[in-house]
Amino acid sequence: MSTIFKKIIDKEIPADIVYEDDLCLAFRDIDPKAPVHILIIPKKEIPSMAEVSENDKELIGHLYLVASKIAKDEGVSDSGYRLAVNTNNEGGQEVYHLHIHLLGGRQMTWPPG
Ligand code: AMP
Repeated sequence: MSTIFKKIIDKEIPADIVYEDDLCLAFRDIDPKAPVHILIIPKKEIPSMAEVSENDKELIGHLYLVASKIAKDEGVSDSGYRLAVNTNNEGGQEVYHLHIHLLGGRQMTWPPG
């Protein structure tokens, strides 16, 4: 089932896009939890990490490389940041289109809530 992120990919609804290529899209979270809060999503509709397959190996790697590049572009690479992939209900996932949260610009705490 398609989600709101698919509509962002298809440019049916607006988003503050910071990066795009053939495989993925990155845009600012509409309800930021840190000064830098960007979502990196595959254009392929994968609901969550629970559904990734061997075929997605390169795609998943690509998403993390893009996250690392965006962190540099956003100026949080040296200070530090967190990449998080909420997965399914107890993981706190709300939108069932796989996404990496890039959070930075403040001190992160551990353990996460
Ligand atoms: P998660 O709980 O991991 O599924 O995270 C979903 C994230 O998507 C939340 O941080 C929301 O604030 C964010 N979000 C939902 N709708 C939009 C939207 N239209 N544009 C940007 N971010 C969104």
